Amino acid sequence: MSKVELWDISKSYDKQANVLNGINLSIEKGEFFVLVGPSGSGKSTLLRMIAGLEEITGGTLKIADQVVNHLRPKDRNLSMVFQNYALYPHLTVEQNILFGLRAKKVNKQEQQERLKKATAMMGLTDLLKRKPRELSGGQRQRVALARSVVSDAPLCLMDEPLSNLDAKLRAHMRIEVRRLQKKLGLTMIYVTHDQVEAMTMGDRIMVLNDGKIQQVGDPITLYNEPANLFVASFIGSPK
Ligand code: ADP
Ligand code: MG
Repeated sequence: MSKVELWDISKSYDKQANVLNGINLSIEKGEFFVLVGPSGSGKSTLLRMIAGLEEITGGTLKIADQVVNHLRPKDRNLSMVFQNYALYPHLTVEQNILFGLRAKKVNKQEQQERLKKATAMMGLTDLLKRKPRELSGGQRQRVALARSVVSDAPLCLMDEPLSNLDAKLRAHMRIEVRRLQKKLGLTMIYVTHDQVEAMTMGDRIMVLNDGKIQQVGDPITLYNEPANLFVASFIGSPK
């Protein structure tokens, strides 16, 4: 169960009113949902509120039919992958991947089983004893993905996870992330500012500008029937 519902969600920071305004949205279980929009449009703010890293200043957030506005991140049963994937430099790949499970007191055998599955899936089996500085950018990104795989959480949040990678690796990792999501049946909320990434990865896409939803739809609808000029020019459709 991992349907995510946003009911009239808004956000103000101390010095900046209404960064987000009246966001209503329902994300289905098992859906690959992309939030796309230009820099400063409020994508990270929205994702961080869903994660529990940012206070919700208005509205109701439900995950799996439960109101979670005041639940701590670790009680929301979700995993997160960010742009600067923040591996612990002094820990090995294995220790980095298992860090969250240790904190949650998952037993040793279960940890090893999940580790095996996640590292096989991400092609990291031979790198377990290395430190982050001994890895390439792409390998580090795969460690961050493996860390979210071992969590076994049904909901995964990603904030521009591929934007530090070069173009070729990025194209490859898009396919990897999609494959992972399908295979694990994850509900995914994926933030990007890249239209191509949005259009090639999303089952559905929400276009955000200036804290407001411009359109929600599948890639073909967005392309063929953009709701307004902003969507048309952002997506690049001929309107
Ligand atoms: P995006 O991820 O789409 O680039 P953000 O959610 O990071 O957008 O930012 C949306 C707006 O909120 C921006 O105007 C940004 O300056 C502002 N903002 C983001 N984080 C904070 C913060 N911690 N304090 C004050 N303003 C913030
Ligand atoms: Mg952002």
